[in-house]
Order: sequence, then C-alpha cells, then structure tokens
Amino acid sequence: IRDDQGRVARLQTSSRDVSERKAAEEALEEAARAKTAFLADVSHELRTPLTVIRGNAEVGLQLRSDCVHKEGLEEIVREAGRVSRMVEDLLFLARSDSSKLPPAAPFVSEPVSVAPFLDELVHRAELLAREHGAVVDATREGDAEGILRVDHIRIEQAVLALVDNAAKYGPAGGTISLNAGLVARGDGPTELRIEVADRGPGIPEKELPHVFERFYRAGRSRDLGANGGGTGLGLSISKTIVEAQGGRIEARSRLGEGTRMTLYLPLTDDETTPPESP
Ligand code: ADP
Repeated sequence: IRDDQGRVARLQTSSRDVSERKAAEEALEEAARAKTAFLADVSHELRTPLTVIRGNAEVGLQLRSDCVHKEGLEEIVREAGRVSRMVEDLLFLARSDSSKLPPAAPFVSEPVSVAPFLDELVHRAELLAREHGAVVDATREGDAEGILRVDHIRIEQAVLALVDNAAKYGPAGGTISLNAGLVARGDGPTELRIEVADRGPGIPEKELPHVFERFYRAGRSRDLGANGGGTGLGLSISKTIVEAQGGRIEARSRLGEGTRMTLYLPLTDDETTPPESP
C-alpha cells in the first residue's frame, strides 16, 4: 500500500498469497518426502545383492585353498549383474526425470510402419518367452496398417518388459497372448493397441494402481526378494518410454486368473514414407 507520494507505506499479504505459499510449501515437502523414500528404496535394493557378493567373497577367502568355490563365484556374478542392471535402470529413469542430465540416448522420432513393426515385435517376444520356457500366441485384429512416429527400439523394449513379466509370473510353460489392433478414439487419432496377457496368479486389486511405481513389487513377488529376479523398475521404465512418446499403458488383473497389460500409441497422419523395415 503506497502513500500520497507513491512510496511504499505498508506491506499487506492477501489470504490468497498465504494459501498459495502454503500449497507451494506442501508440494516441496511432498517432493522431499518422495526423494527420501526413493533413496531409502535404492539403498535397500542395493544392499541385498551387495551382501551376497561380499559374503561369498569372504567365504572364498576363508577357504585358504586354491580350489575355486564355483557356486560362490556364480552367485557373485549373478548378483553383480543384478546390481549393474539396477544401476542402468535407475540412470535411465533419473535421466528421463531431469532436464539437467543428458539423456543416455535421446528418443528418436521416426515414421514406423505398423505391420512390419509388429512382425519384428512378435519374433522378439517369441525368443524372449522361449528363454523362460513359455510360448507366445500372437493374434492381430484387422490388417493393422498405419504409421507410428516413435522410437521403435524403445517401444519394443517397453512391450518386451511386459512379455518378460508375463513369462516370469505366469505358469511355467504357459502361453502369453500378444494381441494387436487399431482402435478409433472419437475425435482423437486412431491408436495402435498392443495387449500382453497371461494366465498367471494376477495382481491383488489393491496393489494394481501401484505396479508402475518405482521399486513396487506386488503380492508374492515381493517375498521372492533378490532371487525373484526382478527389481521393481521394469513397469515404471515401460510407462516412462510409452508416455514420452504420446502413448499410455493400462493394467488389468484378476487374482487367480491372470494379468492383461495394454499399451496404446497414437498413429500419425504424417505422410512421410517410412523405411522398409522398422
Ligand atoms: P519386477 O522387476 O519386480 O518384475 P516390474 O516393475 O516389472 O518389476 O513389476 C512390478 C510388480 O508388478 C512385480 O513385482 C509383480 O509383483 C507385478 N507384476 C507385473 N507384471 C505381472 C504379471 N504379468 N503377473 C503378475 N504380477 C505382475
């Protein structure tokens, strides 16, 4: 508030300023809490494999003989692999979050023909499923023609993470359905829908909204601990990749019946001729 000569006479804070400041403070506090929780998760997840590595190395040293403790070494290699996978994943997510860190490999956005892209995807999914002793039942609705403008290698990575989960959590030797088709969405662009479904144990309803969170491991997989193979980062990476390219992922699941992950990507009207292969 100014006096007759235009000098500042009194400062007054409006209640709107106060409530805005309060909201900003609360947002900062929430961000700080999330950061602390994230650091606690990272430390916890890294501690388990590091304990195994250290324990095996110490046992090896105490053996006081030249004979190599093969099992111990194998465990060291496996757990060290797990640590480096986790660090890679964390770096990917940190880079996606931060505008200050340079992206490891920025997303490329190029025209990709849907049909050959799906052919290649099915082929890779079959190879991956086979590694887990599972099989893929691939189906396509309609002719699934169109063009995406995406980084097809990253999208493939996102879908294969879903296939990997379906194989990992589904019944041994089970069948994974990989279904694709186009969906028209009102006024919006037509979308490519890719669905990965299994007949595994499913995810409890209460936990389903959390499975895309970092380090979240639902139901029984949480109890599997380090030996369960997963890090709880796979789905959050898939979601980051898909959303960065204008798409989305939805999860549906029924306990005891199975899980269905659906990914949507908008087709482009861009007429640029796509390359021959994806
Ligand atoms: P993880 O490395 O543990 O597999 P993800 O981020 O890929 O991490 O998945 C998070 C959690 O969601 C998993 O730990 C598991 O509990 C649950 N989940 C994901 N996919 C499936 C599935 N197909 N069937 C059952 N549970 C699943």
